[in-house]
Order: sequence, then C-alpha cells, then structure tokens
Amino acid sequence: NRRVILKDYVEGYPQEEHMELLPATEVPLRLTSDDPPGSVLVRNLYLSCDPYMRPKMSRPVRASYTAAFVPGSVITGYGVARVVDSADPRLSPGDLVWGITGWEDYSVVKPPVTAFLSKISHGADGGVPLSYYTGILGMPGLTAYVGFHEICAPKAGETVFVSAASGAVGQLVGQFARLAGCRVVGSAGSAEKVELLKTKFGFHDAFNYKEEPDLAAALARCFPEGIDIYFENVGGAMLDAVLLNMRVHGRIAVCGLISQYNLKDGEKDAVRNLFAVIAKRLKLQGFIEPDHKHLYPKYEEWVLPYIRDGTIAYVEDVAEGLENAPKALIGLFHGRNVGKQLVRIAAD
Ligand code: NDP
Repeated sequence: NRRVILKDYVEGYPQEEHMELLPATEVPLRLTSDDPPGSVLVRNLYLSCDPYMRPKMSRPVRASYTAAFVPGSVITGYGVARVVDSADPRLSPGDLVWGITGWEDYSVVKPPVTAFLSKISHGADGGVPLSYYTGILGMPGLTAYVGFHEICAPKAGETVFVSAASGAVGQLVGQFARLAGCRVVGSAGSAEKVELLKTKFGFHDAFNYKEEPDLAAALARCFPEGIDIYFENVGGAMLDAVLLNMRVHGRIAVCGLISQYNLKDGEKDAVRNLFAVIAKRLKLQGFIEPDHKHLYPKYEEWVLPYIRDGTIAYVEDVAEGLENAPKALIGLFHGRNVGKQLVRIAAD
C-alpha cells in the first residue's frame, strides 16, 4: 500500500516537498481484527484534487469549517473506490463508492461508513464515467447546484458572472445559468480556458482576467446593465471589481476565495468596495456543500439526464498515478488544471 502523507504544515504556496509518497507496504486484502467493527476496505481508483485541501494543510489556528490534516498522516480527500472487503451490511465486495478516502492504494474506512461513502448506482455501465463522481456527480457538482439554484435563486433573463469559470465548479455554474435562461459571463486565466468557456460550455461571453489591466472596466464592458448574480470562486481584486458592477438587489454566493488561500495573514487582500453592499442592497451569502448533502439525490436525478443527452458537458484534467497527485493538487493554485483536476490511480 503506497500512501501520500503531509510532511509538515504549509505556509504560503504548497510545494511537492510538503508531501511525500511513502514506499509500498504489505496490506492484507481483507479487514483484520485491528479494524473497528463495521469498517470497509476499499481499493482507491480516482482521487480528487480540491482547493479546500490547501487550508487543511495550514496550522489549525484559523477559522475553518473542516479539521486540519495531521503532519505524518495520509492525506484524505474525495475519491472513487471499489469495495474489497466489508463489515458493513450495506456494502459488498465489488461495489463502487464515492466519498472521503485516503491518498493511498487501499483505505480502511471506519464507521459510520455511510457518513463518508455513498454507493454508486449509475457507474460505468450506466453510461457515465466513474471519474465524474469526483466532479459533476460529486462534491463540486452539488456545490455548483446549491450555490447557484439555492443561494442565488436565479430568474430567467438575469445576468450572471462566474470567476474561475472553467474549473470543476465554475464550468457547471455557467451551464446551469444558461439552462436557467440567464446571460452568463465567465473569467478564467488563459486564452485556452476562455475559448473553452465560449465554445464548450456556452457562456455568452468570457475574458482572461490576467490580461485585463482594469477588472472593473472589463466587467462594465461585459455587463453594460450590471450584474444580478455573482458566483464567487476567487475573492481579492475580482470581488472588489464585481462590487462596483453589481445591480441593485444583486446576490453574491460566496463559494470560495482561492486567490487568498496561499497568502500569509498580513498579505491577504482587503475588500475596498464593501460599501456597495449597502448602496446596492446586495445579499452576500457564504455556503458550504456539506450542509446541503440532503439535496444530493434531487441534484443527481436532475443532472443525470443532462449528462447522458450531452446538454451539459464536463471537462476533466486527469493526472496518472498516485506519485503525481501532489503535483496535480499544487497545480490548482497556479491555474495549471484545465477543467476538473483528478488523479487516476487504478483502472476502473
Ligand atoms: P478549479 O477547478 O476552478 O481550480 C482552481 C482554479 O482557480 C485554477 O484552475 C485557477 O483558474 C483559479 N485560480 C487559482 N489561483 C487563483 C488566483 N490567485 N486568482 C484567481 N483565480 C485563481 O477549482 P474548484 O472548481 O474545485 O473550486 C473553485 C472554488 O470553489 C474554490 O475557491 C474552492 O475553494 C471553492 N469550493 C467551495 C466549496 C464550498 O462548499 N463552499 C466546495 C468546492 C469548491 P484560472 O486559470 O482561471 O486562474
């Protein structure tokens, strides 16, 4: 069993040296008497790289909604796996599952197993790639759905802006907005990504924020009448520019602030245009996906037909091999991923 551990807490941008792939050790391919009753042994197939894993690498002092990783321990995160042995009556060997596992070949998931793992009923034979359970059919998918439909409460004809728009969450928000009859514009960090937004995901317009000397002016150009809904993925200078361009009674769903995750405390961006929240009577709401798990069945039922008939596209960026997982995760913070970043560590 090979495992990737966090070596020590991270300050600033994470480097590959902050993680280590430990050489293979023998694992029994069955649960043993050391495993708590009700455990499940899984073979990990796909690992998800998600931005929230970065705050978990910091010393646990800041306000956070999830516990920090423990240096020396295996990194945990979302993944897709196959059950090898099970002491939980709801899961049998051969079942496919998605949820929280470890960055290792095999993981023992301790009870309550159903708090961590969900059985996949629409797997490879259901016409849907298994890897989608790290993305559109997993945590990022529900995040996009809840953030857009529940928090933003869109109406047809409204204008929507999405940042980090080509990523795991953003590409879906854009497509959900188009389906809801909104006019949607996205920003991303390269010409290739901007092209993808316009041609593959059906954004009405898009721009490369790295090439805009004045973000507020770029938004004014794309939204002459202003923005009704902003789906916030990045924070920092983009949030300030958006605040200046919001319409009265606009809504901002604060999903993530990736531009701030690697900055040390004194370096974080101040929000300068917060007065716009009052002047424009804006509603600004943060949310986290785990609070909305109960909506997953409704979301899955809604989105599956769109995946199957091609109405919704999903672009993935697949790294190969457990040894490449640290590099793939770090790439998120430099915009190296094109689409949802995941790692394939074993064949389906
Ligand atoms: P993505 O697939 O979008 O990958 C991250 C992208 O962020 C990069 O590709 C890069 O794209 C962009 N980025 C990186 N650094 C910066 C920066 N300094 N300024 C602007 N953009 C940057 O990730 P996800 O879709 O998985 O996540 C998007 C956001 O949603 C994150 O903030 C994440 O924390 C949040 N999130 C929140 C959840 C919740 O429950 N609230 C759940 C899931 C995600 P580019 O090339 O365009 O710069």
